[in-house]
Amino acid sequence: MKVVVVVGGVGGARFLLGVKAALGLPPIGPGDSTHEITAVVNTGDDVWMHGLRISPDLDTCMYTLGGGIDTERGWGHQGETWVVKEELAAYGAEPTWFGLGDKDIATHLIRTRMLRAGYPLSAVTEALCDRWQPGVRLLPMTDDRVETHVVIDDPEDPGNRKAIHFQEWWVRYRAEPQAHSIVPVGVEEAKPGPGVLDAIAEADAVLLAPSNPVVSVGTVLAVPGVTEALRKTEAGVVGVSPIISGKPVRGMADACLSAIGVETSAEAVGIHYGSRQTSEDGLLDGWLVAEGETVHVPGVAVRAVPLLMSDVDATAAMARAALELAGAEVE
Ligand code: GDP
Ligand code: CA
Repeated sequence: MKVVVVVGGVGGARFLLGVKAALGLPPIGPGDSTHEITAVVNTGDDVWMHGLRISPDLDTCMYTLGGGIDTERGWGHQGETWVVKEELAAYGAEPTWFGLGDKDIATHLIRTRMLRAGYPLSAVTEALCDRWQPGVRLLPMTDDRVETHVVIDDPEDPGNRKAIHFQEWWVRYRAEPQAHSIVPVGVEEAKPGPGVLDAIAEADAVLLAPSNPVVSVGTVLAVPGVTEALRKTEAGVVGVSPIISGKPVRGMADACLSAIGVETSAEAVGIHYGSRQTSEDGLLDGWLVAEGETVHVPGVAVRAVPLLMSDVDATAAMARAALELAGAEVE
């Protein structure tokens, strides 16, 4: 079976473990030739820091599926150390608020070296995955530079606004300054990464992971051509809600939803993605919400199932429900 999953970082990576398990594959490690799972990964969080190119969502997916993630934190390496970060701070080198682990830095060094040598991010990702064997084809949404920025009130210049990188807003300021708008800078000129549109066109099922609807899934959908491909594919398209009982399960997705004027509820996010059948730019055939919630999304088949990714079995059951709602037979 060919499954395409649109993902961000932690929520997306955990969901991918469940998709593998639902198809009978070991959640961690290489796949097999009977199933092809392709993840189209958000790269709007990518950033240059200390001369290194960092791709947080790609790395979270790669480490999670390859068995190297710190499972408690959900990001970064297990057994990580922070010597380089401390040394940089001792020099007073900004930024000091970003968690750059020593092991992680090796990944960023290789990525940066390959990008500087002229390889596109998709080729770099493939090379890094040679080591991690995630068992899922990880495709950057684009090889072009797209960086999400957040417009906030400038604390140093009252009455004026300024745009900061999404990472600074999210990691440094914990999404506390109100976001007036969230802009994936560069996305209009970006082209979908190699293989992205073909994977969507050839899929048996397309799933939108329970990732942040604005800065993860939303950024992928903003790459010109991706939404059109999702609307055209013969596969069923099913989304999984990251919002349970009116709250994000982890993180501050509510701050992102407010910025685009969408209420933090499974229903509002489903309506925001929209129906492929009845709306002109809608995407969904199906929408999975948490057990016990009553949700109506016009033109979309809504099903309620347990949606907590507490372990791989629970996540596999979610993925199976999503695949079934997409019309794909899982035995
Ligand atoms: P990030 O890039 O690391 O922020 O991760 P994603 O964008 O892929 O996922 C973040 C989203 O995952 C958050 O909005 C959470 O609400 C959602 N999430 C995390 N854990 C769970 C879970 O167990 N169930 C569901 N339904 N959503 C979850
Ligand atoms: Ca992310």
